[in-house]
Amino acid sequence: MRYQIALVKGDGIGPEIVDSAVEVLEKIGKKYGHEFCTVAYPAGGCAIDATGEPLPASTIEGCQASDSVLLGAVGGPKWDSLPGHLRPEKALLGLRKALGLYTNLRPAKLYPALKSACPLRPDIVEKGFDLMMVRELTGGIYFGERGRREGKYGPEAYDTEAYSVMEIERIARAAFDAARKRRRNVISIDKANVLESSRLWRETVHRVAAEYPDVQCSDMLVDNAAMQLVRNPSQFDVVVTSNMFGDILSDESSQITGSIGLLPSASLGATTCGMYEPIHGSAPDIAGQNKANPIATILSVAMMLRYSFDLQAEADEIEKAVDDALNAGCRTADIAKEGDTVLTCSEMTREILNRI
Ligand code: NAD
Repeated sequence: MRYQIALVKGDGIGPEIVDSAVEVLEKIGKKYGHEFCTVAYPAGGCAIDATGEPLPASTIEGCQASDSVLLGAVGGPKWDSLPGHLRPEKALLGLRKALGLYTNLRPAKLYPALKSACPLRPDIVEKGFDLMMVRELTGGIYFGERGRREGKYGPEAYDTEAYSVMEIERIARAAFDAARKRRRNVISIDKANVLESSRLWRETVHRVAAEYPDVQCSDMLVDNAAMQLVRNPSQFDVVVTSNMFGDILSDESSQITGSIGLLPSASLGATTCGMYEPIHGSAPDIAGQNKANPIATILSVAMMLRYSFDLQAEADEIEKAVDDALNAGCRTADIAKEGDTVLTCSEMTREILNRI
C-alpha cells in the first residue's frame, strides 16, 4: 500500500524528533512492503517567520489532502510576546478544527525498565499499568456559551458545559473501537450525581455500549477516577471522558508514568486521517543539540499505523523495538540515571531501528 503523510515538524526539537520517526516509518515500510510518502509543511513559529502566520492555508490544504499527519511540536520563547491570534499554538487548534479532530487518544504506560521514575508507591508500581485516555476534544465547557454579567453578589462570570447526543455517541464509539484493539474494557468518567450533561453522557454511553457486547463497560465518577488513577491504575484499560475532565485526567495519567518524553498521542475525527504527535512541547532548551528523546514521536508513528492505517503487526513491531531498546538499557538524557551511558537522539533512533 502507498500512504501519503504530511509532516508538520514545527519548532525547537520538532524537526529532530520527526526526522527520527520518519526513519523508523521507512524501515517498517521496507520490511512490510508499504510506501510511505512524506511532504513537510510549515506551522507554528517557523511558519510565522516564513509567512507571517502560524498556520498558512497551504499547510491546511496539504494536511487535508494527506492520509495522516505527523506533528513534532510548536512554540518557543522567540514567539512568546506575539498577540494571541499570531501565537504558534494557534496552528494546533487550527489544524484540529480544519481536520475535524474530535477524539484525543493518550496512552499512558509504565515501562518496567523505567519503574524507578514512577512517583507511585512500590506496591502499586509492581502491578504496572497500561491505559488509554479517550478525551472528547471539540465540545463541552471549553466551547460552550460564556460571559460576564451582573449577578446576585455583583459582577460574575460563567461558562457552560453542553453536550449533544451526537457528540457523546461519536466519542463513545471511538472509545469502544479503541478498546477492541486493546483489552476490551471501557470505563466512562462523568459527574452524573450532580451534572445534567453527565446524566445524558452516561445514558448515551450505555446505549452505545449495547452495540459492543464484546467490550465490558462501567461508569466512574470523576472525583473517584482522579483518586483511582494514583491508587490502582492497573484497573484501567480504556477511559472515555469529556473535554475538561479529560484535560485534567490525561495530565495526571501521563505524570504517573514518570517519563513524559515517551508518551505519544493521536487526534482523530470522522475519517481515518488523524494527527499524531508527542505530548511534550518543543523543548527549546535542548533544541538543535541532538539531545531530544525521539521515543514519543516514534510511538506516535506506531499509533498512526494502528489507528489510521489498521496496520497492527507493524505498530506492534515498533512498540516492541522501543520496549527492547529500553530493556537493553538505552537511555537519552531525560530518562538516564546517574551512571547510565547517555545516548543522543540519533543514537537512540539507531538502537530502535536495529531492533526492527
Ligand atoms: P516542553 O515539553 O517543551 O519541555 C519541558 C521540559 O522537558 C524541558 O526541560 C525539555 O527539555 C524536556 N523535554 C520535553 N520533551 C523532551 C524530549 N523529547 N526529550 C528530552 N527532553 C524533553 O514544555 P515547555 O518547556 O513548557 O514548553 C516549551 C514550548 O513548547 C512552549 O513554547 C510551549 O508553548 C510549547 N508546547 C508545545 C506543545 C505542542 O506543540 N503540542 C505542547 C506543549 C508545549
